[in-house]
Amino acid sequence: MRVRFPNILTGKIQWLTIGYVPIIKPDSHDAAEKKRVRVLRDAIFQRCLAVLLHRLIPASEYGMKMRVPGEEGMVLAVPRIVLYAADQPEKRQALSLKLSGCQRPCSHCMVHKNSAACRGRRADVREVLLAVDAQIEDVEALEDGAGAARLMQIEGDTSIVAIIPALVAVHGLGTGPCCLYRIFRFDMLHVSTASLCDILLEARLGVYLGTGGNRSRRDSDRFISSLDALVHTLAGNEA
Ligand SMILES: [Zn+2]
Repeated sequence: MRVRFPNILTGKIQWLTIGYVPIIKPDSHDAAEKKRVRVLRDAIFQRCLAVLLHRLIPASEYGMKMRVPGEEGMVLAVPRIVLYAADQPEKRQALSLKLSGCQRPCSHCMVHKNSAACRGRRADVREVLLAVDAQIEDVEALEDGAGAARLMQIEGDTSIVAIIPALVAVHGLGTGPCCLYRIFRFDMLHVSTASLCDILLEARLGVYLGTGGNRSRRDSDRFISSLDALVHTLAGNEA
């Protein structure tokens, strides 16, 4: 896990490695084992984020005194997270949202999977507090030993999973303007939206026409849903 810091002492911008996330793999190809590992992986990822954010969370709310070149005495600095650059699987994991094969594949809005790759009317934005409240209720139900039916009732078709995203504790992401879903972006300096959309749509068509390799129908559906989400996100970024 790396963080991009502007170094105010040297004037340079640096990428610093701040932590490592353990890789966990299933012991077998059994579906239940894969699901168990997926949940474990998501929970450990959030635990790693929580450890990394441990000191940043109170500082993001109350600030912290620090020395700044050119200033006399201590200066109150209030850190903010303004960008989280991630690919789609990591983004969904960081936000505790289902990766694919779900009804609402966009992390920014509530667009349905059937219209994610379509032009037209925009869907409502995802409400951070509503989603996190549901995630907290989901976690509590899980800890109380609730069954799958109860969890499905809480989650509805919002595509959340029963894990609370650690980032929501950072001031500004889960409080104030609630920017949790807005900090995830592609770096548009390095992405040509139109051409990338064309490539993705071609790949989507390829899967439909059976040129997507030896994928099962289920894998193809998941792949298509991921591509739709990506096209939808890029189109949103372009707008
Ligand atoms: Zn969207």
